[in-house]
Amino acid sequence: MAIAWGLARRGRKVAVLDEGDVAHRASRGNFALVWVQSKGHGMSEYALWTMQSSQRWPELAVAIEEETGLDVCFRRPGGLHLLLSEREVESRANALRRLHNQPGMQAFDYQMLNHNAVAKLLPQIGPQVAGASFCPADGDVNALRLLRALHVGFARAGGSYHSNHAVSRIEARAGEFRLHTAAGEIAAGKVVLAAGLGNARLAPMLGLDAPVRPQRGQIIVTEKVAPFMNHIVHTIRQTDEGGVMISDSVEEAGYDPSVGSEVLSIMAERAVRMLPLLARLNVVRCWAALRVMPKDGFPVYDQSDTCAGAFLATCHSGVTLAANHALVLPSLIDAGTLGREDLDAFRARRFHVSPAH
Ligand SMILES: Cc1cc2nc3c(=O)[nH]c(=O)nc-3n(C[C@H](O)[C@H](O)[C@H](O)COP(=O)(O)OP(=O)(O)OC[C@H]3O[C@@H](n4cnc5c(N)ncnc54)[C@H](O)[C@@H]3O)c2cc1C
Repeated sequence: MAIAWGLARRGRKVAVLDEGDVAHRASRGNFALVWVQSKGHGMSEYALWTMQSSQRWPELAVAIEEETGLDVCFRRPGGLHLLLSEREVESRANALRRLHNQPGMQAFDYQMLNHNAVAKLLPQIGPQVAGASFCPADGDVNALRLLRALHVGFARAGGSYHSNHAVSRIEARAGEFRLHTAAGEIAAGKVVLAAGLGNARLAPMLGLDAPVRPQRGQIIVTEKVAPFMNHIVHTIRQTDEGGVMISDSVEEAGYDPSVGSEVLSIMAERAVRMLPLLARLNVVRCWAALRVMPKDGFPVYDQSDTCAGAFLATCHSGVTLAANHALVLPSLIDAGTLGREDLDAFRARRFHVSPAH
């Protein structure tokens, strides 16, 4: 929707073909961080792209509010990655050092903090917190409001949204694309595949490749309480509405989106060790959602060599990257430079290297 909104704002005639309410849709089940620290190990371009999106986020939030009247509650108070033992502190410090030592890495500000320094930022931490990494660029947003606002903004910019239009097949012929859906066939001059997990099946129809798999994450939400967190913790955040969200699971469970008390209890136990006052709150909701996880964890942006006018965008961390997707990708799609002059590192051809013998 970020790409669709961005294209519609540029005056393009855009139709979004989507599935119905029953669909795997990470955008309505995520944890809503706009997160910079720790992104990009193995691809320094991704670290830079993430940092740029975080920097563009204030512009996105203002533009959305101006065009829709909806406040998506973006804030950037800085984020803490809390650590529960000296071993975790050492391993985190090493990981961030390795990230920053990569060739081409654009450094971002972060600090490793001991217990007392963390307590100054977040006085509610428990005695078991050994330390944390802190990054002032980290923030969050109200992700459900963001999704709604992008839909509203898209419609106001003249876009047309078609639910219950799952695309089963795409043909490229005579300079146009024919998209087959249960509700009929639709013709378009250009196509952007931004169908999350659905991209894996659709991409090869247009000479593209989107090796993505589902990766489950579970989330706990508590009752609403008065604001008490000055900073965001990478697995615990208090929303603008007062509820506390806890998200700490990364599971390879295929397309199974079920919640399970085994994982939830581990998440709750770690969260209570980090912030003991959470033990007093009632849990009101839990859910699981499927991440759209590319094979190497990094976004895939590409355009087809064989079907001119076909583009692909797929990623994990699409909330963080929404500012880039709304404010940068549309002009690259318009110009036909996506993955050519621009964002070359993110093309799918990185998956096609021959194994070393
Ligand atoms: C538990 C969890 C926590 C997360 N936390 C964060 C976070 O804190 N910060 C962050 O930046 N990111 C986070 N993410 C990731 C983020 O939610 C996703 O990167 C982002 O929502 C992906 O958006 P998308 O539009 O690409 O995919 P989706 O939201 O999955 O949307 C894909 C859409 O394509 C449609 N579709 C699929 N197939 C077809 C078809 N054949 N025809 C038509 N339509 C089709 C689907 O119905 C769906 O509407 C999290 C994800 C999860 C699951």
